[in-house]
Amino acid sequence: MIVLNKVTKRYDNGTLGLDGVSLTVGEGEFVAIVGPSGAGKSTLLRSINRLNDITSGDILIDGTSITKARRREVRAMRCSIGMIFQQFNLVGNATVQKNVISGRLGRYSTLQTLLGLFPRADYELVDQALATVGLSDKLQERSDRLSGGQQQRVAIARTRVQEARILLADEPVASLDPVTSQTILDDLRGINRDAGTTVLLSIHSVDFAKQYASRIIGMRAGRIVFDGAPQELTDDM
Ligand code: ADP
Ligand code: ADP
Repeated sequence: MIVLNKVTKRYDNGTLGLDGVSLTVGEGEFVAIVGPSGAGKSTLLRSINRLNDITSGDILIDGTSITKARRREVRAMRCSIGMIFQQFNLVGNATVQKNVISGRLGRYSTLQTLLGLFPRADYELVDQALATVGLSDKLQERSDRLSGGQQQRVAIARTRVQEARILLADEPVASLDPVTSQTILDDLRGINRDAGTTVLLSIHSVDFAKQYASRIIGMRAGRIVFDGAPQELTDDM
């Protein structure tokens, strides 16, 4: 469960990113955050795994405050929080296999990580994850040779092997065409259904949000202005 308690984020230049946001997201929910550019969607998602620090309030992940956690603790908490970005954030000159298996990195010692020593079973998880996104034949391909949609599916495979309890996706389909977007959203729905992973994504298209999410959060100027079922969302949102 994710709990935000009166969270405010003011950037160094004075811009208010979040303005007193309170929110509870339960286990296994599929939540879409919609709202105009600058509404605070990205700030909200990045605050949850502490990619940015908040100014006041508190954020709890399964009862533990990530706001108050120390660096080592934050790192441990991030092992159970997957993140997907608009720009995929893969290591471009590394193979698909290397990118996907990096989802397991947080589990091992620094030395193991440096040496790239992963258990055999981890490679099997990689194979399975790539099969679910239809990229088994790309295992040894350089990631930057793939199309945008394929790269995003690699990122999704990476969060599958991470076995995260929570998946945060910041505009995961913003740079993709509608057909490819649908395959990515199908993959996210698959993770939500197969593993019961809580999915929280920001998305520009209200139509896609309605089609995929079981709950929609509307944001404007750093505040939540709508929180309800897709069918309750009116056109003037
Ligand atoms: P995008 O989300 O379009 O990929 P960025 O990740 O660079 O863009 O930034 C996210 C948001 O933060 C954007 O709305 C951008 O305008 C804003 N932003 C980034 N840096 C600053 C800054 N120094 N001052 C004001 N706004 C910023
Ligand atoms: P959204 O994801 O809904 O487009 P953001 O969370 O990126 O909104 O931005 C919320 C507000 O915070 C905007 O006014 C944006 O310009 C500002 N902002 C975002 N990142 C930064 C930053 N790094 N520095 C200053 N202002 C920022």
